Amino acid sequence: MSDRSPSAIPTRRVTVKIGSAVIAPKGRLDLAAIDRLTAEIAAARDGGASIVVVSSGAVACGLGPMGLSEMPRRLDERQAAAAVGQPLLVSAWASSFQRFGVVAAQVLLTADDIEDRARFVNARRTIDTLLGAGVVPIVNENDSVAYEELRLGDNDRLSALTAGLAGADLLVILSTARGVCRDGPSGDVVLELDDIEEARSWVTRDRSDTGIGGMGTKLDAAAIARSLGVETVIAAGADPGMIARAIAGEAVGTRSRAAASAAAARKRWIGHKKRPRGAVDIDRGAADAIATRGASLLPKGILGATPADERGFAAGDLIDVRCEGVTLARGLTNYALDDVRRIAGRRSEEIAAILGYSVCDEVIHRDNLTVLNNPGMNA
Ligand code: GLU
Repeated sequence: MSDRSPSAIPTRRVTVKIGSAVIAPKGRLDLAAIDRLTAEIAAARDGGASIVVVSSGAVACGLGPMGLSEMPRRLDERQAAAAVGQPLLVSAWASSFQRFGVVAAQVLLTADDIEDRARFVNARRTIDTLLGAGVVPIVNENDSVAYEELRLGDNDRLSALTAGLAGADLLVILSTARGVCRDGPSGDVVLELDDIEEARSWVTRDRSDTGIGGMGTKLDAAAIARSLGVETVIAAGADPGMIARAIAGEAVGTRSRAAASAAAARKRWIGHKKRPRGAVDIDRGAADAIATRGASLLPKGILGATPADERGFAAGDLIDVRCEGVTLARGLTNYALDDVRRIAGRRSEEIAAILGYSVCDEVIHRDNLTVLNNPGMNA
């Protein structure tokens, strides 16, 4: 494996997202751009950083071989182009990294891999193992198989979620944009972005010929990253040295700082996960304790449990917490559906006698429970 891989203990984990327009403008792989970026990434690794690359360009790389001259509108055609382009894209990265003795790996993720706790833990372990072995994971969405309603669809948000998954502290988004501008794309770049919501009114849904997202999805990414405790830099991919300068904290592009604490970030992370596997209905007393006192959810306050579908839910899954039909919180359950039903309404001391085992007193521990800001019906 790489003779450049961790001689020094990596001090930082960095996710670098590279847009299609940077490495595959007009649907053709720009090998010179890839060579420049792998040189920069190899140098950053020598400087002690662990790097995860999120690379777009699968669809763009597939266009030419598929005989398509522009980004198809139909999802099945885009998925087919991605199936053709993804191996070309990853081989280009891998052979370029080889010049530095660096091994690259392909990691294809779907939204499910990030939202489902068991799959999340598994994907995280894979990325940890790759980084530990000095390998550079090259991540993309598994475009060719992701269902429309389950796909993230843009690599900006995927890169923020990947940064969270990889435990990165910095996300560098390289695209054709120089950063976030208040007065249109040719205006001055805002160096420090405090209010991401305000910035949404400055940007149009601009996008390049081959890219999917525009500045809007980059702001989404910055917001997700911030809530996961990850700093984001949005900078021009064509300018040399951006990765090193972003890591060094220089004023390149637009920087959005991370939210305060890791515990707060974890709770917001739970709030970001989209599809709960089911719900528990709780009584008023338990609802008050959770909403106003930040309490854990104990079996005593549970009236019943409902799965999202016939698969039910398992320990570790995300579930909604409802009171009188209103979803007020969301969290990771310690007990599976059938077990929650059996211990509902009972005291925690009885759990072991009822189930024959007990993992803990709480059905959802307060650390894994996020009270929703705007509780609502089926929120
Ligand atoms: N996953 C898509 C691709 O590789 C790109 C999505 C994006 O550009 O945001 O082509």
